[in-house]
Amino acid sequence: MATNFSVMLFQRQHFGNEPGIFDDIEPNVPFAGSTKDFTFDCPDVNPRETAFLMFQSRDVDHQRNVFQINGVDVFGGLPASPSREAWNGNILLIEPRHQLRATGNVLHVESRNSSGGRGDGIDDFIIDNVVILYKTPDFFWTLPAAAGDFAAFLTKELLPSIPNVRGSGRDANPADQHNQYVLPIASQLASWRAVFQSLLAGAWGPAHRLARMISSTYNVVQFFDTPTGRTYYVLMEGVPGQIPAPANHFSGVTITDPADPTRRGWGSYVFAAQPQRALSLSAPHPHDDLETEVEAVEAFLALGARTLLIAGADRDQNTAEAPCEQSSRPYLEADVSHTAESVFQMAFEEIYSSDTSTWHLQFHGNANPTLACQDVDVFLSNGVEVAPAMLYALSANIATASRAAASGGPVLRVDVYDAPGDCALRGTDNMQMRFASGLRHATICAQGNIPVGPSRFIHVEQRPDARRAPTDPAATPGRNRGVVVAGILATFP
Ligand SMILES: [Zn+2]
Repeated sequence: MATNFSVMLFQRQHFGNEPGIFDDIEPNVPFAGSTKDFTFDCPDVNPRETAFLMFQSRDVDHQRNVFQINGVDVFGGLPASPSREAWNGNILLIEPRHQLRATGNVLHVESRNSSGGRGDGIDDFIIDNVVILYKTPDFFWTLPAAAGDFAAFLTKELLPSIPNVRGSGRDANPADQHNQYVLPIASQLASWRAVFQSLLAGAWGPAHRLARMISSTYNVVQFFDTPTGRTYYVLMEGVPGQIPAPANHFSGVTITDPADPTRRGWGSYVFAAQPQRALSLSAPHPHDDLETEVEAVEAFLALGARTLLIAGADRDQNTAEAPCEQSSRPYLEADVSHTAESVFQMAFEEIYSSDTSTWHLQFHGNANPTLACQDVDVFLSNGVEVAPAMLYALSANIATASRAAASGGPVLRVDVYDAPGDCALRGTDNMQMRFASGLRHATICAQGNIPVGPSRFIHVEQRPDARRAPTDPAATPGRNRGVVVAGILATFP
């Protein structure tokens, strides 16, 4: 338990009704009169713990003077002085009944006569240097810890904890839509930025504490991966083995009480303690963009990337439409790539802004290629037609990895968005893409505010063959997600 202190009174104060009576022993002592209140603050105080007061006093004749904190008598009162000739040091206990708070506490001192009454004959005494020492919550929290196969935890527990909504957009199955995604409010999102800043600074304990102050469902879990000996920090709801079940709501709800145990669906965020590559990967559309969530996990672990962002709900979980630029689909409010005010967006913006070198790859999938996408399996977009060289490098490396694995068999066709007639799935209405391109947060939501410049963000749009596991019976050696990860590996050595 940590402690802090506040000075309540730093100057001698003469209480009573005879100014000048101490001129012989304490000349020029300020005269307070019969009573005075002193307000004081106790930043970060834990009011459930006992605090104590230290102060000096002189010539207190009896025990009937009034000495209160926040309107409650301090036990023992102002101690009587054995002698007028010397200062006395005092220590008094302040208990939970005094209800210390962060600001606006009041010390009330009042001189009384020996019968406890007011008026003539009240006591004359001096007090000085009143200091309160109090306890604060521990700054360094013990993080929840887990050990085991991290890949298995992510793919067999965390991802399956996100309920699937069959169908997509307009054709989402109403039987699967339960509005389980809770809408974050502005003040919560502002606090989440601070959480991500702490995580990026490696301040895991403070991040854990801050996250729990927003929603007690969230924890920063220290996960030791036994197969590799690597450590990861996972901001997640619940802890491994105890992920809270989703709750159904009639429509999009907000939850402001941090203690409310209801699952929020705000996503999971993994930070590698010792990353090997300046890469951040994200999966904003788990389940709906089939297997992209597993692809992101596999790529994150295989590449030794810095961070992994996974949305906490199927994009079609809530029934209301997303507030930002729409499409014919339509986009719904649990879709974190099409909603500016999400925890996922806060995570992305803080991580993206935290350096100028990390590249950010986001995995998407399309099942029904139209819009000039029928001839491409992996379509890389930077949101602007003049694509950065990195996209061509990645494109070439994925194609090369595919050819090498295919040994003459079918390969993945890869393309970069750089011409008006290209595949229309370019992520230009994607909130992460828009922010990365240089748009301010406040402007990304609005209709028509397409990316304004090149960035370190790559929107990876893929047909099902590019997302399949190499072990999937439908996969071929040259057409599977292992090839895509190999291409990324070759691009960011
Ligand atoms: Zn998608």
